[in-house]
Amino acid sequence: MKENKAYKFRIYPDSLQQEMFSKTFGAARFVYNKMLEDKIAYYEETGKMLKNTPAQYKKECEFLKEVDSLALANAQLQLETAYRNFFRDKSIGFPKFKSKKNPRQSYTTNLVNGNIRISGKRIRLPKVGEVRIRLHRQIPNDHLIKSVTVSREPSGKYFVSILTEYEAPETIVSLDKENSIGLDYSSPSFYVDSNGYIASMPHFFREAEKKLAKEQRRLSHMVKGSRNYNKQRRKVALAHEKVRNQRNDWQHKESRRLASLYDFVFVEGINYKDMARGLHLAMATNDNAFGSFRTCLAYKLKEKGGKLIAIDKWYPSSKTCRHCGYIKSDLKLSDRVWVCPACGCIIDRDVNAAINIKNEGLKAIS
Ligand SMILES: [Zn+2]
Repeated sequence: MKENKAYKFRIYPDSLQQEMFSKTFGAARFVYNKMLEDKIAYYEETGKMLKNTPAQYKKECEFLKEVDSLALANAQLQLETAYRNFFRDKSIGFPKFKSKKNPRQSYTTNLVNGNIRISGKRIRLPKVGEVRIRLHRQIPNDHLIKSVTVSREPSGKYFVSILTEYEAPETIVSLDKENSIGLDYSSPSFYVDSNGYIASMPHFFREAEKKLAKEQRRLSHMVKGSRNYNKQRRKVALAHEKVRNQRNDWQHKESRRLASLYDFVFVEGINYKDMARGLHLAMATNDNAFGSFRTCLAYKLKEKGGKLIAIDKWYPSSKTCRHCGYIKSDLKLSDRVWVCPACGCIIDRDVNAAINIKNEGLKAIS
């Protein structure tokens, strides 16, 4: 069974290499936009899909020849996927043009005939050469590099995201239903489990989040485009990056812990995308974080043969009594403690929900 895994590392290009990256970002964007422009014109004339390739544009645009041609091929692939989606569902509109002003710029290239190599503290990239890389973890020898995405983040830092493919052994493990747990998303902590354990983001993360909000507020009072504004914008980008990294680190640690302890993890069947689009914007970021945490956890469980299972999203896990099954339909968000009018049991609201999620999950798998 072939599996993919992505590795992200920071790279430190020198000024010439930065220049080549800039050129390649620009060329990939140019090809994407130019091809899209022609596709739109052709569509408006004929109602059909135009098949064009980057090679057609190389004659008139000499600079396209200077950069990694695979970056252009990937821009084409990306556009074709977006364009096919448009043909499948025209209500989504044409794909968007890529903007020079996007604070994050990137391109993707592929490994062909050993053109990409990591040796020592350097990664060799086509047309760019050997770039200094910080390998904070090793890519196993049996992983084949498929593609590399080079990005310049809003903070000005450069990264490579390396996608690998490897032969994963078919894991046949017998899963133990007893070895399972239910998680209930909970705000302002992160989740509560069916044993009553409360997982919260560490304190330093909240601090970093507060600092980010402060810097963002400061930015909103500045004159757009001014020198101070640009300086502050970089500060915000750095604070943002820090928050994201801390959140990712913690989520990885926490999901690794759960995956090592349990065979089955049950969660609520909530559509987190819908929730994030909803009115509770203040909560949205955290809900998104729980969504990405679930993805991460599902991945780690799968690696060791376990399973993440989302229960039916209509199951009223919060409103049901875990003892007698009584359903309290007028339960309010502000009711933090579950007091059952039928059997009189008193239990923390989130723990009650987590236990229900676990029981419902167990029913689903048996
Ligand atoms: Zn009850």
